[in-house]
Amino acid sequence: MQIFYNEPIRDFSKEENRKWISPAIQKIRNRFPIFVPAIVSGEEIKNLSKEKHTNPANKEEITTEYSLSNSSALEKAIRSSKKYFSNWSKLDPKERISILCKTGNLISENKDELCALILLETGKNIPEAEADIIEAVDFCRYYASEYEKIFKGQRIDLPGEENLYSYKPKGIVGVIAPWNFPAAILTGMCAGPLVCGNAVLLKPAEQSSAIGLYLYRLFLKAGVPNEVFHFLPGKGEEIGAEIVRHPEVAVINFTGSREVGVSILKECGNIGPDAKRIKRALCEMGGKNPIIVDGDADLDLAVEGALHSAFGFQGQKCSALSKLIILDSCYKMFQSRFVEAVSSLKIDSPEILSAKIGPVINEESKQRLEKVLGDHKNKILFQAKISEDLKNKGHYVPPTIFEEDDWNGDLARKEFFGPFVTFFRVKKFEEAIERANDSDYALTAGLYSRNPEHIEKAKRKIEAGNFYINRAITGAVVERQPFGGFKLSGVGAKAGGPDYLKSFLEPVTITENTMRRGFTADLIQ
Ligand code: NAD
Repeated sequence: MQIFYNEPIRDFSKEENRKWISPAIQKIRNRFPIFVPAIVSGEEIKNLSKEKHTNPANKEEITTEYSLSNSSALEKAIRSSKKYFSNWSKLDPKERISILCKTGNLISENKDELCALILLETGKNIPEAEADIIEAVDFCRYYASEYEKIFKGQRIDLPGEENLYSYKPKGIVGVIAPWNFPAAILTGMCAGPLVCGNAVLLKPAEQSSAIGLYLYRLFLKAGVPNEVFHFLPGKGEEIGAEIVRHPEVAVINFTGSREVGVSILKECGNIGPDAKRIKRALCEMGGKNPIIVDGDADLDLAVEGALHSAFGFQGQKCSALSKLIILDSCYKMFQSRFVEAVSSLKIDSPEILSAKIGPVINEESKQRLEKVLGDHKNKILFQAKISEDLKNKGHYVPPTIFEEDDWNGDLARKEFFGPFVTFFRVKKFEEAIERANDSDYALTAGLYSRNPEHIEKAKRKIEAGNFYINRAITGAVVERQPFGGFKLSGVGAKAGGPDYLKSFLEPVTITENTMRRGFTADLIQ
């Protein structure tokens, strides 16, 4: 049976694919505020403090009340995980594979509600939310199919000697997820370690805890035992940091900011005299992603791809474009067409299907981005307009194009994680590649060119985990484009790729001398 296939995406230009949207939004809205408990061994932990999260497009609407998990919830989760770990890890691998496939199917069956919840809790529009969910489904099926390829291990038997090279799950995995792909990334980060037989402690991001809870429940419904999969919402610097420090946790699976990722790597590398293991940390972090527009590029394609890469989900993607490096010979032409395209972007509530730009995640993010606008106001080339109504209601930040020639300033080096892009001009193609690589990050990069020599040169020289030629630089597809960066963008685990599962497994070699000299008495009876 073929386990993996990419889930198809719905075509929203067709009336029948749009009918569900309003009823699904209303259904989710009727449940607000959604209470998000900490859940350990299937039981809700009572009497925890709570925090609120609001709809990014409507500050008055409280979407979520999430619990702040504490140390005692964590200890309980650790005790249960240790006790029941072997039941799960020794289960026939085919059963875990089947549970993962079932999880994927359940996510697919619940697409409409999940889409509506993503829209209301994070401000992502429907097509982007759909893509997020599709990727979550793909991760479940893909990791199930990858595990099927490796669980049997490799045998090399000789006369008198049998050798088995195989994998054992590492133990307890702490999953610390971001809010920007609240379905795909969280699901993939749990599905990988679970299918390998690990126990998982899931800490969703504060801004998307209700989505995390919804998905967590689907995993349990599919058959993941609640004794080895626990849900611990709360603040990153509190429960997140406690999970990272806990000596019984074998792996930290983190996706988020560089600042937090680097602090986790340091903590896990801090091996004291009483340490019992080397804790593995998978940290997938930010990017400052460039696209080069070559002098002979197809500008129709380049404008469209750059627009989508920079402003999809308001630029709140780790893969988003932020540095546009344009060859002098087409600079003016590209600039005027790009500005025109940005000025025509429809900015509105994500509930409006045709809206391309919605709000950013919260007030803190809005203020941080407004400070960037203030600090660089003399570099603004163009800024889209937002209506007063929208500004008063939600956390809207205008899509903005900067123009810069300083390659050492923040516009060239810092990840903003918002709807901003900066134009840089270069004279030669070689300089464009050097400038694209001149970064602490190496996540995504793109090139628009019709010159085969330049394309080949860029393939050899560009430093990026995912390099795209003549297409947008966001929207990696599971299996086809394993995703993740290097340098300070990540440790190279490559989500949705063939090496990912090995991060949650301990490879072991068993060698047996089979030239036995007789048998023990017990066996002879
Ligand atoms: P974040 O680092 O603020 O939070 C991510 C998670 O870490 C959250 O669950 C948060 O609660 C937790 N956390 C925060 N402080 C912690 C601490 N001290 N100890 C343990 N956990 C802690 O990031 P974010 O704002 O949610 O996400 C945005 C960032 O994520 C951007 O930089 C983006 O580029 C990056 N990102 C990277 C990838 C990738 O695959 N490389 C994918 C998505 C997002």
